[in-house]
Amino acid sequence: MVKEQTLKMNSSILDGRKVANQIQEELASEVNKLKNEGKKVPHLAAILVGDDGASQTYVNNKIKACKKVGFEYTLLQFPESISEEKLLANVDRINNDEDIDGLIVQLPLPDHVSAIKVTEHISPSKDVDGFTNENYGRITSKNPGLMPATPYGIQELLKRYNVEIKGKHCVIVGNSRTVGAPMSTIMAYHEYATVTVCHIHTENLPFYTQQADILIVATGQPGLIKADMIKPGAVVVDVGITRIAADNQRGYILKGDVEFEEVKPIVSFITPVPGGVGPMTIASLLLNTLKATKARY
Ligand code: NAD
Repeated sequence: MVKEQTLKMNSSILDGRKVANQIQEELASEVNKLKNEGKKVPHLAAILVGDDGASQTYVNNKIKACKKVGFEYTLLQFPESISEEKLLANVDRINNDEDIDGLIVQLPLPDHVSAIKVTEHISPSKDVDGFTNENYGRITSKNPGLMPATPYGIQELLKRYNVEIKGKHCVIVGNSRTVGAPMSTIMAYHEYATVTVCHIHTENLPFYTQQADILIVATGQPGLIKADMIKPGAVVVDVGITRIAADNQRGYILKGDVEFEEVKPIVSFITPVPGGVGPMTIASLLLNTLKATKARY
């Protein structure tokens, strides 16, 4: 088992980068242990289609993390024009590759390829993003499969900061299949929070957000959540990452869904963007890859 440490609550920042580094250190020593015992080292494969800058950055960060903890990795890159059939054949190839334990297909995919079809084609035992129907369904099991990576990362971040969840009102803004919806199940089913899920059709959003002891926002709408929408002392988790054009070397800045500067003074905890949920998603992928490896051997 990966050894868990608990962080001291000495700041109001939920520092995802720090916790992710801690998890990576734990995983690195786990890899050493596996090597010493002559056991298999986890191997993650990533499929990247096209040349979208953000997708390339995400995949590079995942590979960097694999290198850091000593996992093996394989990157398969395909042009934007790849057919759905050929992509599915490559997913099959990895499903059947005994040496590979985990597979991620970086989204979004080009319009002519069905992301649902490709995702569902991944063997649930290698689906370390936790996107397949089987893993999604197994969230509501006391013995879940591979958990959806971002919600799992948020759960782990809150746990390592000893945030009290049981009985608290958790309001989630966003009901996507990859973040908001599975997050609501995890919080209600595993953590015993009282959960409200809001989305684009929610009438009077502030009415709900103002009641949140724990507010988790995943909309991709930069700055949607302002200080007057927050209950003082709340714990705020900002999942959103949007690239905003800026006059700097990279040509953009990353902005979350929460107005960080105005919200930070009134909350008990808040995740920064970047450096909050993003690194925890990668840490979860690594944890899932280790779990997948152990389940297969
Ligand atoms: P999505 O587009 O699939 O879903 C967006 C959700 O937000 C929907 O449920 C929609 O109803 C809701 N929404 C949109 N506008 C709203 C509004 N004005 N009021 C209330 N609800 C609104 O997006 P997603 O995949 O869930 O991702 C959301 C954000 O999180 C994006 O910025 C994405 O880049 C980011 N993200 C970050 C990570 C990470 O690791 N940090 C992982 C996944 C997604």
